Amino acid sequence: MSQQQWPDWLPLRSDLRNLSPYGAPQLPSLAQLNTNENPYPPSKKLVSAISQRVEEVAGSLNRYPDRDAVELRKGLANFLNERSHTTLSEANIWAANGSNEIIQSLFLAFGGESALGFTPSYSMHPLIAQVTGTPWTNGVRESDFTLDIARASDQIRATKAKLIFVTTPNNPTGTAMPLADIRVLAKVAAENSGLLAVDEAYAEFSNEPSAITLLGEFPNLLVIRTMSKAFAFAGARVGYLAANKEVISALQLVRLPYHLGAITQAIALVALEHSDELLANVATLVADRQWMSEQLQGLGADVIPSSANFLLFTVPSSKEIWNSLLDQGVLVRDVGLSGYLRVTIGNAAENRRFIDALAKSLGKSLGGNL
Ligand SMILES: *Cc1c(COP(=O)(O)O)cnc(C)c1O
Repeated sequence: MSQQQWPDWLPLRSDLRNLSPYGAPQLPSLAQLNTNENPYPPSKKLVSAISQRVEEVAGSLNRYPDRDAVELRKGLANFLNERSHTTLSEANIWAANGSNEIIQSLFLAFGGESALGFTPSYSMHPLIAQVTGTPWTNGVRESDFTLDIARASDQIRATKAKLIFVTTPNNPTGTAMPLADIRVLAKVAAENSGLLAVDEAYAEFSNEPSAITLLGEFPNLLVIRTMSKAFAFAGARVGYLAANKEVISALQLVRLPYHLGAITQAIALVALEHSDELLANVATLVADRQWMSEQLQGLGADVIPSSANFLLFTVPSSKEIWNSLLDQGVLVRDVGLSGYLRVTIGNAAENRRFIDALAKSLGKSLGGNL
């Protein structure tokens, strides 16, 4: 993509002039495996439950929605409590239009001074830092993409960052952190007057317990979750935060009034009522992740161990293989790591199409065992 030239009359902030809009290409393809979506659409039964609820809400769309989304936040607290045996209430939950809006609110409320993350990780963290005018430090990971906790702790002490992000399972690498490591980082962050924000967008795919189980121990811990990935509800745009109630109160200072529409709130509640159904495919995706990993290794790729619904794997050339896969109708993600590509676990047909296409791209025969 070529750099946009801005006209002189446009008083765009100088710190934004060299930015490009975030986003993976949205191209028509036979296997869309580039944004870590859940490939399984809602059932007919769920579609009609959603339609019915929309119809009920439609009759009062002349009114603003519940500004504080209390019913939805209660529903989200119950959902987390059931899964993690916690005792959260709506006072511990904030909800927004995707977890990206949660992240933006965190920067608006707690940014300003300094933020730290450990790259490679989710690129929206530094991007939102920049857009909200927060100085950002790229901390480092080890060469196998894990986080060395002693080293990470030193980086927290050195930067004294007010807002520290860790993503686990990490995107784009898939690597998960043990809960014991989160505990150490939360403690070091607290000693340096920082908040530790744990981005758990892929938590449901991991065997590691959620960091929400540590909220009672660490008032400075924040856990970001989303309905976009395991929950198979990306189109609805619902993300949420679990944290101490003072954190939630602070976010209410920076939220736009009525930020979460009545229809979004209503259908997110329907989705929560059907959470068993929506999460039913997680086990399938985890099993297929194993299958994909074996197939990739069979083609000679190194595969980073993943606790999420995607795999990062090595290729001879990221750009060439990405293009060659696209020519065959398979869209994966070039995450900007030279020699790697990231593929989302799709349905069985998409996964086979991807492996078949990759074999062709690499000029390898599959030996007819697919
Ligand atoms: C996908 C993703 C999100 C954002 O998802 P929303 O759709 O905005 O909820 C947040 N963090 C990470 C690490 C992600 O991969």
